[in-house]
Amino acid sequence: MDDRGIVIVGAGEAGVRAAFALREKGYEGSVTLIGDEPHLPYERPPLSKPVSEAEAVRAIVAGERFAETGIAFKRGQRVAALRPSEHQLVLEDGEALGYRRLLLATGATPRQLPIMSACGVLASDRIHVLRTVEHAAAIRRYMGEGKRIGIIGGGFIGLELAAMGRMLGAAVTLIEVQPRVLMRGVPEKLALALQVRHAAEGVELICGVAINAISADSDSVVVTLGDARRIEADILVVGIGAQPNTALAAEAGLAIENGIAVDAQLRTSDPDIFAAGDCCSFPVAIYGARRVRLESWRNAQEQGSLAAANMRGAGEMFVGIPWFWSDQYDLTLQVAGLADGAVREVARSLSPGAEILFHLDGEGRLIAASGLGPGGAVARDIRLAEMLIAKAAKPDPGALADPAVKLKSLL
Ligand code: FAD
Ligand code: NAP
Repeated sequence: MDDRGIVIVGAGEAGVRAAFALREKGYEGSVTLIGDEPHLPYERPPLSKPVSEAEAVRAIVAGERFAETGIAFKRGQRVAALRPSEHQLVLEDGEALGYRRLLLATGATPRQLPIMSACGVLASDRIHVLRTVEHAAAIRRYMGEGKRIGIIGGGFIGLELAAMGRMLGAAVTLIEVQPRVLMRGVPEKLALALQVRHAAEGVELICGVAINAISADSDSVVVTLGDARRIEADILVVGIGAQPNTALAAEAGLAIENGIAVDAQLRTSDPDIFAAGDCCSFPVAIYGARRVRLESWRNAQEQGSLAAANMRGAGEMFVGIPWFWSDQYDLTLQVAGLADGAVREVARSLSPGAEILFHLDGEGRLIAASGLGPGGAVARDIRLAEMLIAKAAKPDPGALADPAVKLKSLL
């Protein structure tokens, strides 16, 4: 390594993990972490969970750890350009920085609803997305008794905020254009169970309708639906997915394929530039090297660690199994693996109100498992299912369905 050292762009989950993993693995060269947000790096999951206002801003690391570990943290500074041929990047203020190896961990940005610009409400302070602590603080002001929250999108942001709103006493209406919530990545049975729970908690769920117009003034926001219904609220939150932040990489000529394209070692099309977390797509070995992009906390952590090792030449392959969780009321949903190639679903009932669905492909191989239940009821079995998925196991469906058979015995 020469003295230009390692530079990491993006001080979120993946970037911070990579910076500290470099030190944990004994790298003594210079490490520079650059993030455009003004804060110390913070966790995003609490932003959509019903924790107290103080707990909602949870630092990923204590500020003093940067000085203690000799990691230069440039906060509130945006990287404006990347010049791979010169091994150099340029900050927004014009400062140029050299690198020996570079990690792009630029995350993702919430998608905007096209109809918002058509209706001239893009700048309304009654309409929000949720990605940052600033967004969360603006939304939280409306999370109480006597407030009305409208939500567009029955994905994770929408459902977690709906639960948070109801738990804090607000009236919640959630609009999903698809016939049900969580159309992608969550089996119908569990998605419908969540819908039932939201309805029982008093969420007005409207699925399968188009959005015709959105208007807003200084007091309220109104969504007009395809069937002419008008939903009026104090605030509208739009949670319709996120797009990978690829502009830097694309302008620098790196390969882009639903995110910054990396190989199994997290290398981009430039051998000295790596990418990790929400911003990149990568081949998943256990699914025949199919390319996916994941937007989940554990993936960002695991890829941050691996990128750190590989920037130092470890040459290790990413073998993580996709996994995420979502908390809604007292329920936790956990999904391990990718279920979309499954031809058969096997259900196992756990404790009351807790169930796991095992997803098998045409050859009987376990490729994914989805669980829903109170608290940590499904966690242990999902963990064991993950181990079975990693082994490409073909467990007996009868044994999977039978709660008396310990999953551990199938390993
Ligand atoms: P990010 O955390 O987005 O970090 C990227 C950083 O790079 C950002 O700070 C960005 O501003 C910065 N950046 C971008 N471009 C530049 C540039 N040019 N110069 C400098 N800095 C730049 N996952 C789960 O599995 N379970 C959950 O319950 C869960 N809850 C979530 C709740 C919310 C509200 C959100 C938003 C996400 C949640 N996630 C959850 C997803 C998880 O938090 C993300 O997958 C994870 O944070 C991704 O980490 P990342 O480092 O790839 O990206
Ligand atoms: P999401 O989970 O991808 O859900 C987006 C929802 O909006 C989906 O139901 C989607 O339907 C719908 N949608 C997409 N395009 C639309 C359009 N043009 N009009 C109306 N609806 C549309 O994304 P999210 O909930 O917005 O979350 C954003 C990010 O935060 C993601 O990275 C997510 O992973 C992360 N997050 C994760 C968690 C968690 O894992 N627990 C919690 C909160 C946030 P289709 O499926 O049909 O496209």
